[in-house]
Amino acid sequence: MSKKILIAGPCAAENAAQMRDVSRRLKDVLQADVLQSFEPVFRAGLWKPRSQPSSFQGVGVEGLPWLSEASAALLWPAATEVAQPEHLLSAYKAGIRHFWLGARTTSNPFMVEALADTPVADKQDVVWYIKNPTSPDIDLWCGAVERLKRAGYSGLCAIHRGFALGEHTTTIYRNAPLWSVAIEFKRRYPDVPLLTDASHIAGQAERVPEVAEQAIRMGMDGLMIEVHSNPAQALSDARQQLTPEDFAQLLHRLTPIDSSSAGTESAELASLRQQIDETDDELWALISKRMDISRRIGEYKREHDIPVLQSARYDELLQRRMLWAEKHGIDPGAAKQIMDIIHEQSVLRQV
Ligand code: PEP
Ligand code: MN
Repeated sequence: MSKKILIAGPCAAENAAQMRDVSRRLKDVLQADVLQSFEPVFRAGLWKPRSQPSSFQGVGVEGLPWLSEASAALLWPAATEVAQPEHLLSAYKAGIRHFWLGARTTSNPFMVEALADTPVADKQDVVWYIKNPTSPDIDLWCGAVERLKRAGYSGLCAIHRGFALGEHTTTIYRNAPLWSVAIEFKRRYPDVPLLTDASHIAGQAERVPEVAEQAIRMGMDGLMIEVHSNPAQALSDARQQLTPEDFAQLLHRLTPIDSSSAGTESAELASLRQQIDETDDELWALISKRMDISRRIGEYKREHDIPVLQSARYDELLQRRMLWAEKHGIDPGAAKQIMDIIHEQSVLRQV
């Protein structure tokens, strides 16, 4: 079975003692058998691009020796976030070979290009983890992958960390997962391992396990999870970091799926897939029928000088659907997204 990549460690390196403490406790609580199905990497952010300038922005180069020491103690390679060429140069010089692009950096093509073009001695020795941009712009995410590829890097992985939708989000998590974007990334890059950053998606320690489990069940290639020796006192992302003990417990609970058997099709699965295809045929026939009715409503409204958009009517329709969804175990937020697209297409058909 191919191993899952597991990037774990504190959100940020804060001081030498904290880094020593977290690596020692990880070593103590993680028995070899738990790690059997994972390829672990130790993370700690040294440069932290934060939304607010008053937030803790990382210790910078000062933390490089702490990171190297923790990585050596655990025998896990070290990873850190780089956002500027100087970050990459100093971390590379300190022996670090795993780097991630944060969501805010992936969102900036010039920064990605500057990093991709920064000369390092051996690009083949480097592994890049490209986080999705803050907005659900799949092309921007893929653009970062392409820029690193074009610069000669071949060790490329991606990280799904969810999206900032501000007021538009209906999710219970810190970041809207929008799994559909991650699924689209996998469709476009079947050979680029895709990890799920369960911590930044969840935003609360209690919800990290469910996101991690969903990712593994879905067949993602690994996880990024923030682990801090004393989460309550963490200088960044205090709410979402797990203690080493809770992290170990989570790993015990996760049962990686054997992806080598992906694609093997039993008669039962084939029959279920056949049923899905038939249901989709019916569903699309119904959508087409609905659009045709919309066109006729549009004609009627035109003849009678009625504006196309009837917000009160849509609101009532939407509320009814969301209630129905909830009753039937469907995420009302997802039901709203589906209804919004159908309604938008309907309005456009009418105008
Ligand atoms: C992080 O991994 O600590 C981080 C800042 O993540 P993101 O870029 O996903 O916000
Ligand atoms: Mn963080």
